[in-house]
Amino acid sequence: MEDTRFTTVADDSEQLLNVVEIDHIDDVETLLMALFGRRFAVIDHLADSTAESAFLEVFIYANDEAVGCTVDFPLSVVQLVRECADIADDLGPYGDDVPATGDVVRIADLDDSALISALHDALGRVRIYNLLEDDDDVVVTELIQEPEHVPYDVPRGTCRSCGSGDVTHILAGMPVYPCPVVDYPEWAHHVGCSYPGYVRECESCGEQWSLNGDDQRFEQFLAELPADTEGQ
Ligand SMILES: [Zn+2]
Repeated sequence: MEDTRFTTVADDSEQLLNVVEIDHIDDVETLLMALFGRRFAVIDHLADSTAESAFLEVFIYANDEAVGCTVDFPLSVVQLVRECADIADDLGPYGDDVPATGDVVRIADLDDSALISALHDALGRVRIYNLLEDDDDVVVTELIQEPEHVPYDVPRGTCRSCGSGDVTHILAGMPVYPCPVVDYPEWAHHVGCSYPGYVRECESCGEQWSLNGDDQRFEQFLAELPADTEGQ
């Protein structure tokens, strides 16, 4: 009998979890990691006053960046995987080119019945890992082969005002999350996707500045906002 769990379209995450018989949205994240062999982050957004319908926010990791996308409900697991497969394909291989075991399978190449079968296997692995171990780090290590860690190789620079070397790098936008394989120094601060208007801050004199004229463009952007959204 055909396994319909992965093709059943759900109206929201609760329904999706019920259909696939898993407990938590984190298991969807683990399922994607098991299937793709790369790191994912999945955030659940329920329908509320700001969103017309429920959606998932999915981050797909490459070796030194993460690409985020939103996937709207109604949604099936197969539809979710198809959306991710296109992005994963663009990002290229994750980790070493050749995994320790098994063949490299391009998810985008699988037809629906092969994909459902792969999802069936991946879900089995998720269940086993959930039974074995609750520690996320262990699950990640077992399911995917992470790329080698790389240093954060952007020069720290000096303050344009006082010349101090105590400069903080403000990391906004992509990668939205700290990339798990980059070893960030303590002077690199992730601020998510809210660009504060500068990318460097001096710890000695408080000077804040941007590179390549970004601050002027940001000022321009603020100046062009409609008056009633100013300051939000
Ligand atoms: Zn300074």
